[in-house]
Amino acid sequence: MSNIQKNISAIIEDIKHYSPYPEKVKLVAVTKFVDTNAVKEVLNAGICSMGENRVQILKEKREILKDEKIEWHLIGQLQKNKIKYISEYIALIHSVDSYDLAREIDKHAAKAGRIIDVLLEVNISGEASKSGYTLEQLHSDSANLTKLSNINIKGLMTMAPLTDNDEVIRNVFKNLALLKTRLNEESFGNSLQELSMGMTNDYKIALQEGATLIRIGTKMFK
Ligand SMILES: *Cc1c(COP(=O)(O)O)cnc(C)c1O
Repeated sequence: MSNIQKNISAIIEDIKHYSPYPEKVKLVAVTKFVDTNAVKEVLNAGICSMGENRVQILKEKREILKDEKIEWHLIGQLQKNKIKYISEYIALIHSVDSYDLAREIDKHAAKAGRIIDVLLEVNISGEASKSGYTLEQLHSDSANLTKLSNINIKGLMTMAPLTDNDEVIRNVFKNLALLKTRLNEESFGNSLQELSMGMTNDYKIALQEGATLIRIGTKMFK
């Protein structure tokens, strides 16, 4: 087995061990650090969801790998003028952080004749340096967000702060799960089902707290 295969097997074992519902969890391979040969190895190991944080790089890799069956996920910030490069095929956008952006994606989805799946990225820890919706802004936008008919808002995404304190990280993930429940009750009518949380350093905690998508780069390719 290659290292990539071994690493993926270990992560899949962790999903079974730590998640309360392992069958609901999808492993997204974050391929931003690696070339398309490594992406092919991931595919050979049975993982077909790839996450990139930059539109330009995603687009280039997709062109090289156009004959492969890959679900492309955008996990990094999206500028409105770049939506057109991914709107025809993107499987999930994890990083919607404003109504303006959601409305633009909605327009491009209509133009492409499809419904685009998205997640709302939330800045749970409230750190000024972090991207994502503030809680306040999200609550004030949620009614309008639910009216956009060409995007399917499937859940929430967050990034935990960089810290060795597991309890701080756990609280961020717990709060994202609670927020999902609350938003479902207030305005989303249970349509929020996904929680994208957990990276190399914190995915075990995220799994325990109910992650349904984990985004792993470093650990997969080391
Ligand atoms: C890079 C990145 C990841 C993967 O991080 P690792 O620590 O390498 O697993 C996950 N999510 C986002 C948004 C990223 O930018």
